Amino acid sequence: MVNLLFIKKGHSLPFHKIKVGFIVIIAFCSMAAVSNSATAKSWIALTKHDGIPVVGKRTSTAKSGIVKRSGVQLTTKQAAFVSNFGKYLKSVGESAVVTSGARSPQHQLGIIKARVKSLGVTRKFPELKHATAQRSNTWLRAWEFLRARHVPVNAPSSAGGEAATSNHIKGLAVDVIGRSLDHIASLVRSFASSSFAHKAPLLVASIAREPGCVHINLLPR
Ligand SMILES: [Zn+2]
Repeated sequence: MVNLLFIKKGHSLPFHKIKVGFIVIIAFCSMAAVSNSATAKSWIALTKHDGIPVVGKRTSTAKSGIVKRSGVQLTTKQAAFVSNFGKYLKSVGESAVVTSGARSPQHQLGIIKARVKSLGVTRKFPELKHATAQRSNTWLRAWEFLRARHVPVNAPSSAGGEAATSNHIKGLAVDVIGRSLDHIASLVRSFASSSFAHKAPLLVASIAREPGCVHINLLPR
């Protein structure tokens, strides 16, 4: 299975031991408080009991190991990845907080709306008001506007090849934070070359140091 990987300019920290080659994915981390609303029928198989301790939506640090913010959803493989990363962190006396895992297309659309709103340009995109992830003509113009302004945001769908779907929607990305994002990024790199990573079903493909988090792109083993 081919996964596409595109590393965002300026913030990428490619994990050199893994050849990403032609693979392209756009990295994106959510900084805004966009709700992780669960849909009745999920777009991807999520695990109900991932075993990761839950903290409040604003918590930015953990005592030891790994925790996830309330509302963060994970697939079984993402949960196994996070759990192994947590074991590594514990072994070195470190900690991190997961702020995003699997995101629904609707959640991704909500991020686009939040970015447009935060830039004060909502009136430029009236079609966004009743937008749906499936109807790309309702969000594509806004997404292109954001991309042109270097706002790191991925699309809710591929829009017939015109946009890059978020890796979070595919269950192939996890965002983490901690006391220092640079430090978290270096911990992810160390984990990726440790024996703990060998037990995880997903590999670290690349690490993107985003403004509000460390975005980890993952590849199935
Ligand atoms: Zn992300």
